Amino acid sequence: MGLRGGKSEHENPDRKGEAMTATSGCFTLRVAKESLGFSAAHFIAYRSSREALHGHNYGLTVTIEGTLGPNGYVIDFGIVKQAAKRICDELDERTLVPTRSDAVSVVERDGAVELTCEDGAQFVLPRTDVVLVPIVHSSVEELSRYVCERLSRELRACASGALTAVEVSVAEAPGQAASYRVLL
Ligand SMILES: [Zn+2]
Repeated sequence: MGLRGGKSEHENPDRKGEAMTATSGCFTLRVAKESLGFSAAHFIAYRSSREALHGHNYGLTVTIEGTLGPNGYVIDFGIVKQAAKRICDELDERTLVPTRSDAVSVVERDGAVELTCEDGAQFVLPRTDVVLVPIVHSSVEELSRYVCERLSRELRACASGALTAVEVSVAEAPGQAASYRVLL
């Protein structure tokens, strides 16, 4: 006999009514579009070692939990897509430079950004080609937190219902992603 067909002999009929009326669920929306992504260069640096400069085609997935608004939406998908796309566009075709690294010094000078690493390596990039990100490492973990915190602030203000959580997953390759979740 399958598990679903089986009934517990201890089943209490009163609990059925309880389950029917005490629904305390919330809704989950997920936006994962091919257009939600960015191509960027980066390297991860520690005091003892660093990666060579390289790039990824990053992909973004946004997951939102919340309650229903009077219009039958938790939040309009269009608002989520536009807000996420704006952040992706800021990062697209740029070099991501963490400004809180303890292994890379970052100096802005004469329209350029100068990076000096612990191993003595130096990069000078046009300021317009760089996004200064207030993180320590440009890992997908820290990038997902950065995007999630920005996005959740923005979406919270224009949701139809009450948002309870926003999660952003950043993939650096297909099937290889990290996500960060903010509880609101
Ligand atoms: Zn990488």
